[in-house]
Amino acid sequence: MNFQEIRNSQEAFLSQARNTEISARKSALRALKTAIQERESQIIAALYADMQKSEFEAYSSEVGFIYQEISHTLKHLDAWAKPKSVRTSLSLFPSSAKIHAQAYGKVLIIAPWNYPFQLLIAPLVAAIAAGNTALLKPSELTPNTSKVLSELISDTFSPEFVSLVEGEGHTVVPEAIDQYRPNLIFFTGSTAVGRIIAESAAKHLIPCILELGGKSPCIIDKSANLAVAAQRIALGKGINSGQTCVAPDYFIVHEEIKDAFIAKLKSTFYDFYYKNDVLIDYTQIVNEHHFKRLLGLLEDAKIIFGGKSFPNERRIEPTIVEGDMQHPLMKEEIFGPISPLFTFKNTQDIYTLIQNHPNPLSLYVFTADSQFEQEIVRNISFGGGCVNNTLMHLVDPNLPFGGIGNSGSGAYHGETGFHAFSHRKSVVKTANWFDLRQKYPPYNKKSLQIIRWFLR
Ligand code: NAD
Repeated sequence: MNFQEIRNSQEAFLSQARNTEISARKSALRALKTAIQERESQIIAALYADMQKSEFEAYSSEVGFIYQEISHTLKHLDAWAKPKSVRTSLSLFPSSAKIHAQAYGKVLIIAPWNYPFQLLIAPLVAAIAAGNTALLKPSELTPNTSKVLSELISDTFSPEFVSLVEGEGHTVVPEAIDQYRPNLIFFTGSTAVGRIIAESAAKHLIPCILELGGKSPCIIDKSANLAVAAQRIALGKGINSGQTCVAPDYFIVHEEIKDAFIAKLKSTFYDFYYKNDVLIDYTQIVNEHHFKRLLGLLEDAKIIFGGKSFPNERRIEPTIVEGDMQHPLMKEEIFGPISPLFTFKNTQDIYTLIQNHPNPLSLYVFTADSQFEQEIVRNISFGGGCVNNTLMHLVDPNLPFGGIGNSGSGAYHGETGFHAFSHRKSVVKTANWFDLRQKYPPYNKKSLQIIRWFLR
C-alpha cells in the first residue's frame, strides 16, 4: 500500500467508528501484548544483532517496559476514557459540562534507534488506547529490530488500523506527512530532525509531540552518599553504553569531593562492566559513524579514567574527562559512554554551567541536603529528573515523561500518553426549563447589570 492508500483505508476505518468502543481498543492492546510475547525471543535476538544489547537490558528497557505500559493502560483505560464532569460557572446556569477525550484520528509515530522497540511501541500503546489509527516509522539504523517490528505489526493488525513503513527518514517521512496527512505527529529523535518535522507539520497545521535530546547534567553535592550515587550513576550512564536520551551527559561535582567521587565511580564501573579487563553486559555503539564521532569527540580531551576503544566490537569503555566548556564534547549531546566532569563551589556555579545548555531533557541531583535539593529542582528548568537516582522518572507510568524547549514539547506514558493522543473536547449541556430573557438582545440597563454581576 502506498501512503495515499493507507490514508484512505485508515480514514474509512475511523469513519466507521471501528475503534471508538473501549472494548475494541482493549482487545487491540491485548492482541499487541500477545504478539510481543510470542516473538519475545526474536525481539531480544534482533536487539542483540543490532547493538549487542544484553538480554537483561533488552528485557528491562524494551520488552518488559512495554508489557508494563500495556498492563497499566488496560487496568486504567475505562477511567481515563470516561467523560469528566466539571463544574460550570453560574453564568451558564442551568448547564452541566463534560470533557470528552476524542481521538485525533490518524497518527504518525517516528522512532529513533537507541531503544528501537520501546520507543516505537510505547507511543503506539497510547495511540491505540486513545482510539487512533497509526502509521509507524522505525529507525533504519537498527534493521534487525525494524524487520521484527514490521512482521509483528503486519501479523497483528490490518493496515487500515496500524501500518508500518521502513526506510530512510529523510525520504520516507516528508512523503508520509504529505500523503498520509496525519492528524498528529509523535516524533522521538534528535533536536535537529525534530525541528525539520515541526516545520513540515506546520505547513499543514498538524500538531506535533516532540521527544528530543539534549545534554542532561548530573550534580553531585558534597553531602551525597557517594557509594550509592556511584552505583546509580554508573548504571544510568552505562546502560546502552550511554546511548540513552536521559543518560547523564556531564557531571557537576562539589570540588571538595571530586577525587572521592571519581575513585568510587571508577571502581563501580569496573565492578559492573568488566570481567578480567574485558567489557561485559555492555552494548555496542550503534554503527561506525557514531563510533568514529565519539572517538573524534575524545580527541584532545583530558582523560581522567577510561578512554580505551575496541574498533572490532565498536565499544568504548566508560570514560570520564576533565570538563571544558570550549571542548567539542560540550558543544553537542554526547550520546555515548563519555562524560566531562566539572566542579562547583556554590549553586551559582551550577546555574552558570547549565545555562550553556538550557532546558535539558533530564537533570539528576545527588544530595542529602534538602535545601540544596529544593533550590536545584525549583530554580532550573528541565524535562524531568531524579533526586539521588538516574533514569527512574521515565520508568513509572504514573509520571509524565517529556522535555521542554530544546528537549521537546508534550509528554507521554500512562494517563499522560492517553491524553497526548486525545483531543480534549468540551461539551456544555443546557437545560430548557429556564432561560434568562436579559441574555438576549435587544439589551437594556438590566441586561448590563446582570452580566456585570455574573462576570465580576
Ligand atoms: P534522528 O533524529 O536522527 O532520527 C529519528 C527518526 O527520524 C528516525 O526514524 C529517522 O529515520 C528519522 N529521520 C532522520 N532524518 C530525518 C529527516 N531529515 N526528516 C524526517 N525524518 C528523519 O535521531 P536518532 O539518531 O535516531 O536518535 C538519537 C536522538 O534521539 C538523540 O538526540 C536522543 O537524545 C533522542 N532521543 C530522545 C528520546 C526522548 O524520549 N526524548 C528518546 C530516545 C532518543
